[in-house]
Amino acid sequence: MKQQTQLWQLIHKRLSTELTPMSMMTWFDDTQVLLCTQNKLILCAPTFKMEHITARYIPAIKRALNDIFSEEFEVEVVDNPDTFDRQQEEQKVKPSNLFSQYTFSNFVVGKSNEFAHAAALSVTISPATENNPLFLHGDSGLGKTHLLYAMINKVKAERPDSVVFAVTAEQFTNEIITAIRTGTTKEFRDRYRPADMLFVDDIQFIGGKDYAMEEFFNTFNELYMSNHHLVFTSDRPPREIPALTDRLRSRFESGLVVDIQPPDFETRVAIIQKKAASCGIILSDDISYFIAENITLNVRQLEGAVKKIAAYHQLLGKPLSMETAQSAISDLFSENPGTNPSSDLIIDKVCHFFNVEIDDLLSSSKRANIVYARQTAIYLVRSLMDISLSQIGTIFRRDHTTVMHSLDQVEKRKASSENVQKELDTITRNIRG
Ligand code: ADP
Ligand code: MG
Repeated sequence: MKQQTQLWQLIHKRLSTELTPMSMMTWFDDTQVLLCTQNKLILCAPTFKMEHITARYIPAIKRALNDIFSEEFEVEVVDNPDTFDRQQEEQKVKPSNLFSQYTFSNFVVGKSNEFAHAAALSVTISPATENNPLFLHGDSGLGKTHLLYAMINKVKAERPDSVVFAVTAEQFTNEIITAIRTGTTKEFRDRYRPADMLFVDDIQFIGGKDYAMEEFFNTFNELYMSNHHLVFTSDRPPREIPALTDRLRSRFESGLVVDIQPPDFETRVAIIQKKAASCGIILSDDISYFIAENITLNVRQLEGAVKKIAAYHQLLGKPLSMETAQSAISDLFSENPGTNPSSDLIIDKVCHFFNVEIDDLLSSSKRANIVYARQTAIYLVRSLMDISLSQIGTIFRRDHTTVMHSLDQVEKRKASSENVQKELDTITRNIRG
C-alpha cells in the first residue's frame, strides 16, 4: 500500500505541472492507486470523479506515467475497489521487467555518446574492476536511463546470480525518509548491503537532502570498499549539483565521469530510422531529415515525433508523407506545455534544478540558496512568459520593486559569470521539455 501511495504522489506531482491547482484539487483529491502492474494502472475515485477523469484526464495520466517509467501504460479508473479482479490483472503482467526494452543493441551510437556507451559496456564486461564508480551525465532525454538499464539487463542476462539493485535517487531519498520516520534505518541499510552492483538514476536529486546524502554516503562507502560496482546518472556533472557535500562529490568524481551530448545530425537520422522500424513503419530519407532538422536537442522528442507519425498512419490511415510529418511535429510542440510555459511549470523546474522546495521559494526566506533560486525563477518567468511586472509580483507574493531588484541581480550575475547563462539555459531546456 505504501508503494502505491508513493506512486500516486509521483503521478500527482507530474500531473500538477500540467493541470491547474484547481483541477488537481477538484478531481484528484481523493484518488488512489489500486494496482500498478508493468503495463497497467488502475485508479479508484468516487463515481462522478471517475467519469470525469476517464473522459478528460487519461492522456495526461499516461504522459505522467510515461515520464516516470519511460513506458506506455493502460490506465483505467474505477469507482469501487471491489469491481476488479486483482489476481486476474496481475496475471496479465508480462514476465519481463519494466525497462527490458532498453538494451545495448537498440542504442544508437554516434560521436555524442560513443564514450558513454563504451564506458557502460566496459562495466558489464568487468564489473568492479574498471571505471568504478561510473558517473554518466547529460541533459534530459539523451539516453542516460536507457544506458543504465542496458547495463542492468545485460548483467542480469549474463550473470543471473549477481545481485543488482536499481533505484532512482528520488526513491532512495523517499525510502530513507520513511525509514527515519518509522525507526527502521537499520533495515534500510541492510537492504542494500547484498548488492553486487548498485545503479542509481538521477542522482542529482540527492543534492541538498542532508539525511539522504549522509545515508547514501554510508551505503556508497560500504559497497565501494567491498569492491562492488556503482553506476550513477545525473543531469549535470558532480561539481554542478547544488548543495552536494564535498565528500560525496569527490566520491562521484573518483571513478570515471562521462558526459552524453545531444546527437549530431547523422546520429539523429539513425535514431529516427531505428525508432520507426520498431514502430513498424519505414520513413523516407526526406521525412527523417526533416525531423532531424527540427528536433535537435532531445532524443525523447525524436522518438515522440516518430511515434506520433506512426499513430497517424496506423490509427488514422494517413499516408507517411511530409505533410503528416509536419502536422505530427507541430502537434508535438503544441502539446508540450513547455512551449508556452506556465509560472507553475517554471517554478517547478527552477526548484527541481536548485533542489529547493516550492513553499520555500514562495516564502519570505532570506536563505542565500532560496533567494538565488527565487531570483532565477522571477527572471525566467519574465523572459519566458508575456506578463507584467505586477503580475509577476502577485505570483511570487512580492511587490513590484522586489521583482525589479531580482531581475537586476540576475542580469548582474550573468555579466559576471558565464555559468549563470549556462544555468539559465539548462533550466529553460528543462522547462521546454
Ligand atoms: P535520459 O535518462 O537521459 O533523460 P532516456 O534514457 O530516458 O533519457 O532516453 C529518452 C528516450 O530516448 C528513451 O526512450 C530512449 O530509448 C531514447 N534514446 C536516447 N538515446 C538513444 C540512443 N542513442 N539510441 C536509441 N534510443 C535512444
Ligand atoms: Mg533518465
